Order: sequence, then C-alpha cells, then structure tokens
Amino acid sequence: MREKSEHDFAIGEKRPPGRNHPLRSLKEFGLLKHFLSPYKGKITLALFSLLLASSMVLALGSGVRYLIDGGFVGQSAEQLPTILTSLGIAVVLLALGSFGRTYYVAWLGERVANDLRREAFQHILQLEVSFYEQIRVGELISRLTTDTSLIQILVGTSVAIAIRNLLLLVGGVIMMISISAKLSLYCLAVVPLVIVPIVLLGRRVRHHSKMSQDRLADIGGYIDECLNQIRTVQAFNHEGIDKLIFRNYSENAFAASVKRSRARALMAGIVMTLVFTAVSVVLWLGAIDVASLQLTAGELSAFVFYAVVAAGSAGSFSELFADLQRAAGATERLLELFSFPISASNQQKRPLPVISRGILAMHNVSFAYPSHPEREVLKRATLSVAPGENLAIVGPSGAGKSTIFSLLLRFYDPQSGSIYVDGMDIKDASAQDLRNRIGIVSQEPALFSTTIYENILYGRPNASEEEVWGAAEVVKLGDFLSILPHGINTVVGTRGIRLSGGQKQRIAIARAILRNPSILLLDEATNSLDAESEHAVQNGLKHLMKTRTTIVIAHRLATVLNADRIVVLDQGEIKAVGTHAELITQDGLYRRLATLQFADSVALSQGMNPFLKKHA
Ligand code: ADP
Ligand code: MG
Repeated sequence: MREKSEHDFAIGEKRPPGRNHPLRSLKEFGLLKHFLSPYKGKITLALFSLLLASSMVLALGSGVRYLIDGGFVGQSAEQLPTILTSLGIAVVLLALGSFGRTYYVAWLGERVANDLRREAFQHILQLEVSFYEQIRVGELISRLTTDTSLIQILVGTSVAIAIRNLLLLVGGVIMMISISAKLSLYCLAVVPLVIVPIVLLGRRVRHHSKMSQDRLADIGGYIDECLNQIRTVQAFNHEGIDKLIFRNYSENAFAASVKRSRARALMAGIVMTLVFTAVSVVLWLGAIDVASLQLTAGELSAFVFYAVVAAGSAGSFSELFADLQRAAGATERLLELFSFPISASNQQKRPLPVISRGILAMHNVSFAYPSHPEREVLKRATLSVAPGENLAIVGPSGAGKSTIFSLLLRFYDPQSGSIYVDGMDIKDASAQDLRNRIGIVSQEPALFSTTIYENILYGRPNASEEEVWGAAEVVKLGDFLSILPHGINTVVGTRGIRLSGGQKQRIAIARAILRNPSILLLDEATNSLDAESEHAVQNGLKHLMKTRTTIVIAHRLATVLNADRIVVLDQGEIKAVGTHAELITQDGLYRRLATLQFADSVALSQGMNPFLKKHA
C-alpha cells in the first residue's frame, strides 16, 4: 500500500504543510505582515495622518469644555480672532489628516491585495497538473478575486478604522482620567463585560466567514463549468436542472452569509447595549457631582463627550474584530493555496545537453495516476526511439497512449522505471529545458481566445512574422485564412469555439511546428481532418519529420503507413513493435485494429498488403 501523498488532499481538507513555498509556514497575520513590510514609508504616512486626524477630534472635547465653562455669550471681542484662528488651524489639520488617512490606507489595501493576487497566481501556475484534477478552476478564480478583495478591505479600511479608534480610545480615556478619576474608574468596570462577548462571538464569526467564502467559491466553480459547456447544456435542454442546481448553490451561500451576519449583529448589539448603558449610569453619577459642585458643567460635558468617543471606539472594535475574523478566513484559504507544493518538475535545475538530438528512451516505466494509485496505466513499458525516427503508437482508447506524452512532458513522474531524453534521465533535468525541446499537439487542440496569429506565435513568442506564416503554410492554412474576415488576425473565440475541429487542429499543429522542437509529439493530431486536408498536412509534415524525432498517436492508416516503426499498446503494455508490413502478418492486435479501425483507408493500402485487400 502506498502512503497518502500530497496529491490525495483536496482543497479545504486539513493537510500537512507543503514543502516549497516560503509563505507556507506563516500564520494568517504573518502573511499580511509579509506583504505590508515593503511599504514602510506609506505605512508611516498613513499612521501619521491617523494620529493627526484623531488628535483633532480629541481637541474638539476641550473646545466644548472651554465654551461651556466660559459662558456662550461672555467672550470678549479680542479673544474672537484667537478662537477663530485656532479653529481654522484645527480644520486644516483635520482635513489633511483625513485625506492622508483615506488615501494612504486605501493605497496600502489595494497594493497588498494586488501583490497577494500576483504571488498566488504565480504559485498556482507552477502547481502539478494533478492539482487541477482536484479543484475546479472557478473556485481558484474565486480565491484569487473575492478572497484577496476581503484582504484589501481589511487593510484598506478596517485596519485604519481600528487604529483611529484605538487612538481615540486611548486619548479619550486619558482625557477622562484628567477630568475625573473617580468617574473614569466606574467606566473601567464595564470593560471586561465588553471583551467577553467580543471574544466568544468573534470565533463564531470567523468560522461562518470561512464557510461563506467557501460557498461563494462553489458558485464560482459551478458557473465556470456550466458556461464552459454551454453548448452541451443547451443541446441537452439541461438549463432547467442547472438553474435548480445553481439556485441551490446560491441559497447555500446566502444561508452561510446570513449565519455570519447574525453572529456579527449579535456581537455588535450586545456590545453597544453594554457600553451605552454604562455611559448613562456614569452621566447620572456625574450629575450628582455637579450638583455638589465637585465638577463643573463644562467638565461633565467634556467627560461625557470623551466617554462617548471612547465607548464608540471600543464598541466598534467588535465590528472590526468581525472584519478581522472574516479576513482571517480569507487569508487562511489563500495560505491553503500556498501550501500546495510546486510540482517537482519545476525544481530540478540540471540542464540537458545543449544540442538536442531528439533521442528518447523509456526503460521499464510503470505508472499509475495519483488519483487512482492502484490502477497501473503503463506496465513496465520499454522503448527507445532513434534521433529523427518517426514512430507511431496505435492501440484501443484507454490503452495509455496519451499518458506516455504526459510522462515525456513530465506532468507526472512514473512510479518506477526511467525516461531518458538526449541521454539524460528527465527526473534530473530542468523541466523548462525538457519542454523547450518538445512540441506537442494534444488530443483536444487547446486554443486561446485571441487571434489565429497569436495562437500560432504561442509556440515560440519571439518568432518572426515570416516564421509564423511559414508554419501556417506547412498545415495549408492559406485557403482557410483567405476566406476569414480578418485573415490570420481573426479572433477564434473562447477555446477556438468559432472554428471547426479540423481548423483548430491545424492551428495547433502550426504552433508546434513554429516551436521548431527536436521532438514532435502528435496526439491524434490529424483525427478531425478530412482525407484531403490530412493528405495535405501529411505532405507538409513529411519533410519536417525527416529532421526531428516524431511520435504520432494515430487512428488512421495513412498516418501509420508513414511511420518508420509502429508500437502497439494495449492496456498499458507494449504488445508489439515493428513496421506495418511486419505487424500485419502477425496474428495480433495490430491486425485486428488494422481491419477494424483502418477499414475506411483500405483503398490507400491496397497494393501494399494482401490481408487488407482480402477483407475489404
Ligand atoms: P489513450 O490511449 O486513449 O490516450 P490515456 O493515456 O488517455 O489513453 O488513458 C489511459 C488510462 O488512464 C485510461 O484508463 C484513463 O481512464 C486513465 N486516465 C487518463 N488520464 C487520467 C487522469 N488524469 N487521472 C486518472 N486517470 C486517468
Ligand atoms: Mg489519448
């Protein structure tokens, strides 16, 4: 039995921390600190502005006291300019402070969210392909957008409010004590009463926040899947069912966020009630002191002003705590992403020999996909391919043909055995080097929603325009391009939805050709071409194949006949290797395949082998 490996953990499940990413070991707020630390200057400016704005608010209280005790009407005329000047200065400072607080803090929030998003994206680009077998892409999008937005809100708003309120609280309390220590002491008694519900309910808020974000991500995942298959959805009249499923997802998200809001509201309600009850009691006690002349009316007014400011700040901490918990939930989910290890293939650094001769070899390769470790898809496969050789792989579907390509590209590593490229075990080689010398046309041609030109250029981004046209010429794209409104600059739609299967394949082949690889892998690449275009493409490919190693997975006799050797693969085992003429005389799988699958091409092969003729 194989041990539970890193592949076996789904997102959201508790898992051991990954081993590569430097952020993996951070706690939630460590992550924030990491992303905030480059911006110390901006942080200083933000803090200074906060301090300025808060002290101006506190100064207001002294103004109140001064006005009441001095009497509203008794001010002499010569004091008026001083009062107005101080008021003017206070207003300007308050304005500056407010501007700085709003601007710098918001800047920090956006910056951190941006950096975090970039870092997370960069990380997930390098994850093992098996990671993408476990997660829906829409979910990832949700993590990269909504979760980072939550953090942006936290840094860009909540933290600033928290700091301002902290300053107001501390300043308010100091002023309160300076006015009346006795009344302040009464107020202090309430503090523990306020803290307990904050802590207890805060935990619930956090839990519900994470749940709510998870449910949102579910929605994202579902939308992604459904819209990407919109033609299937509509063709099968599946809209009604999808509507119901979506409603279900959406209601779940709603229910989760209602739970979060309820916990949050409860927390705010309890704290506010406690705080303002206490203020009323203090006001009443203060009134007694004023009556017995221990306190002036102005002092009591100022005290109440400060008490309200301090209490308001303290009360809002519950809200902030909730925000903090919510952002902590989001950060936890992002950290989870960082904990998925970068694929091993991205770590090895040894370069392959500079000159690629296109030599390939597999030695006793056994492989099972990480999601089905008990089912061997390749069994002790051994094969060597000479430089410049043109090899065809045939076999029933599910035999493991495409899997061989995935292993060559090191999307997965075999459990046992080795694969050599240009004489080097690819496990020790830099994956970048390896992939640089391979051009692949995969079974489902993968186009991007840009122009045909850009799609071909993808094969080698620094290629010249002539080279792109040259590659297009090999697959005879010319006729097809000439009928398009914008020729080669026509946009192909999401995943090439505006093209036929054959057109997509030809563009994908042109891309692989442009790459000018020493090893060309074609996975049923001419499958959806009609006989005529296939003939044209074959001719174009012929001279290319002379100079490089080519492996074609084929279902068509025409392709197979061109090959130097044919490998027959069945249920992960290499059953036979030989030329068409050799294999067709043996009573084996190849002969059966040839008669069944290649029946349509029999005409082509007639002069060549008597067997097919007999059965035609
Ligand atoms: P083919 O010869 O048709 O190209 P494949 O190499 O694609 O066959 O697949 C070989 C076997 O591996 C099949 O049984 C298939 O179900 C399984 N398989 C393919 N891809 C995966 C995957 N990503 N995870 C698990 N099993 C897979
Ligand atoms: Mg396949």
